[in-house]
Amino acid sequence: MARGNGAYYAHHPFGQDFTTAPEISQVFGEILGAWAKVVWQMLGEPEDIIFAEAGPGRGLLMADALRVWPAPHVHFIETSPQLMAEQAKRVPRATWHTSLSSIPSGPLILVANEFLDALPVRQFVRRTAGWCERYVENGAYIEIPSDYSLPDDPIGSTRELNEAAIQFCKELAARDAIGLFIDYGPAESAPGESVQAIRNGAYSNVLLHFGETDITAHVDFGAIKEAVHTQGPVKQNYFLTALGLYQRNDFLAQLHPERSLELRLSVQRLTAPEAMGSLFKVMAVCPSHLPPLPGFS
Ligand code: SAH
Repeated sequence: MARGNGAYYAHHPFGQDFTTAPEISQVFGEILGAWAKVVWQMLGEPEDIIFAEAGPGRGLLMADALRVWPAPHVHFIETSPQLMAEQAKRVPRATWHTSLSSIPSGPLILVANEFLDALPVRQFVRRTAGWCERYVENGAYIEIPSDYSLPDDPIGSTRELNEAAIQFCKELAARDAIGLFIDYGPAESAPGESVQAIRNGAYSNVLLHFGETDITAHVDFGAIKEAVHTQGPVKQNYFLTALGLYQRNDFLAQLHPERSLELRLSVQRLTAPEAMGSLFKVMAVCPSHLPPLPGFS
C-alpha cells in the first residue's frame, strides 16, 4: 500500500475526524517541552541545539512546549501547505522543511506525536503459494507474489512493514539526534492488518474517497527497535505520569478553578488504559551511550 496521506492533510480541517493529545490538553505539549529541556541539559546545553517537530498538525504541541523551554531554534517537518499556515499562526518563528534531510546539522532533539502512523506502510497477505504484496490500483487491491522474507504465518494472514517510519528513525540515528515518538501500536511486532480510514468521524473503506479520509496504520515499535537504538517503548500513561502530568494539571486547576473538571477529564483521556493511556506508546531514538532519558528509567 504505497500511499501517503498528504492529500488528506492538505485539504481537511484538522481535528475534524480525530482528536490528538495536544488538542486534548495543553499539559501534553508542556510535558514534552520539559522533557526536551532536560535532555538538552543532559547534552551539556549546546547553544546551537535545534528543537524540531515532525508532523506538527496545528502547531499546538510546540506552542505549549516552547512556554516551558523556549528553545533557540525551532524547525518543523511538514508536507501540507494548509497545516504549515496553521502552524505559522502559533509558532511564527519556526523554520519549515518537507523532510529531515534539510534540517541543519548539529545537535537535534525532535518530537513527533502521531506522525509515524501517518506514513505509508507496505502490506503483505499470505496465500497458498506464499506471500503476496498488496497494492492499490484503480481503487481496488491487487496482489503480486513477493519474495520478501516474512514469518511463516497461517494462510490468509496479513503483515505490515513500516518501512517509511523505520527509514525516518534511521536518518535520525545516523545524525546522532534524539527523537521522541508518541504513537499507537503494539510494543512487539505482530501479524495483522491495522490500516484504517476515518472519514467524517467514522470508520470508512480504505479504498474509497481517496484524499478525503485520514488513513493511518499502527506503528511497529518492535521493528523500529530492531533497526535503531531506542529507549522504550513505554505506555503513554507511564511516561506522562513519570514526568509529572498530575502535578502540572493540579497546578493549572488551582490557577483556574473554573476549569478543574475539564482539566481532570482531559488527563483521564490521556492516561486511562481504555482511552489513550495504554495503546499509545512513547519511544526515544537516541545514541546508545546516553543514560536513561526522563520517563524511561
Ligand atoms: N502531531 C499533530 C498532528 C498529527 S497528524 C498532533 O498530534 O495533533 C500527522 C501530521 O503529519 C500532520 O501534520 C501531517 O500533515 C503530517 N504529515 C503526514 N505525512 C507527512 C510526511 N510524509 N512528511 C511530513 N509530514 C507529514
